[in-house]
Amino acid sequence: MHQHFASDNNAGMCPEALAALVEANAQPHAPAYGDDSWTERARAAVRNLLEAPDATVHFVFNGTAANAIALAHLCRPYNSIIAHASSHIATDEAGAPGYFTGGAWLRVADGEHAKLTPIDIERLTAGGRGVHSTRPRVVSITQSTEHGTVYTPDELAKLAAAARNAGLLVHMDGARLANAVAHLACPAADVTWKAGVDVLCLGGVKNGLGVGEALVIFDGQLGAEVEWRIKQAGHLNSKMRLVTAPWARLIESGAWHANARHANAMAGRLARHITEMGGIPIMSPVEANAVFVDIPVAVQRAVRERGWRFYTFAGETVCRLMCAWDTTVESVDMFAADLKSAIVLAT
Ligand SMILES: *Cc1c(COP(=O)(O)O)cnc(C)c1O
Repeated sequence: MHQHFASDNNAGMCPEALAALVEANAQPHAPAYGDDSWTERARAAVRNLLEAPDATVHFVFNGTAANAIALAHLCRPYNSIIAHASSHIATDEAGAPGYFTGGAWLRVADGEHAKLTPIDIERLTAGGRGVHSTRPRVVSITQSTEHGTVYTPDELAKLAAAARNAGLLVHMDGARLANAVAHLACPAADVTWKAGVDVLCLGGVKNGLGVGEALVIFDGQLGAEVEWRIKQAGHLNSKMRLVTAPWARLIESGAWHANARHANAMAGRLARHITEMGGIPIMSPVEANAVFVDIPVAVQRAVRERGWRFYTFAGETVCRLMCAWDTTVESVDMFAADLKSAIVLAT
């Protein structure tokens, strides 16, 4: 047994990205620090993907760095960031946004299916005690969400309108933006800058890269000097082409879209199996590449004893089953069969 449902980052690099890495590495020498032709291509590919020819595009080590650097670029130390309580920045980054901003705080809301609402934004920005409270500056939205749900372009536009109304900028954690775009079958622009997003952390690693997330700032002025922040944070890779060649190929080959469509389809297949077997409630709409399910502890144990890995996410029984770009139909079917027989044994 070699595949798991713990995370989409349990998968390796996709063939397109790996081939580009090997090609870039075979070039005799290339300029350092991103002044090379692969990085130029990767930037162009990201701008093309987003239909944003003037966007500032940089590449950093991972998603935590992209989020923390982006938020530090937008916030002063006395600011606050509006986010969902389940967001990666709130729960999975060891306080990096606070550390990188030099003091900014998160103000969180805990709506259903890991989604923020315009009312949350109104509520979290209203009142306060002037100079005695942090000053809200950014709304951070995760697309697709930490619960595998997807904001529609309309929902995003309403969030952005509420943000603008409160004088806030909009940051998007797009670690799984590809899965949202695959679900909506819409251009990436429709759920980013056209929906009011100012700064995007664009994910590639969970979608088939080995390293490197993109930091995209749509407004040229807002993007000014961010390269110093990146360098100071230790995120300017000197052999940048080894990060950006796979990025360029991931997008140019269409794999960025295709990998996400595949991962979503596998989650859909898994959800259908689970619905059919009965007894395991699905906790959030399955719109991206995750299936959130309520599995009794004894059943979880039995499935894990068969060698499968997956995370328990909330309480003792809500589990996340995550599909990756390379999850096979066979893995999904085998997992479902093992889950079904574990339920039978436990009841
Ligand atoms: C995986 C993930 C990230 C990035 O995590 P790193 O491990 O720092 O690369 C960011 N946001 C979300 C929602 C994620 O799922």
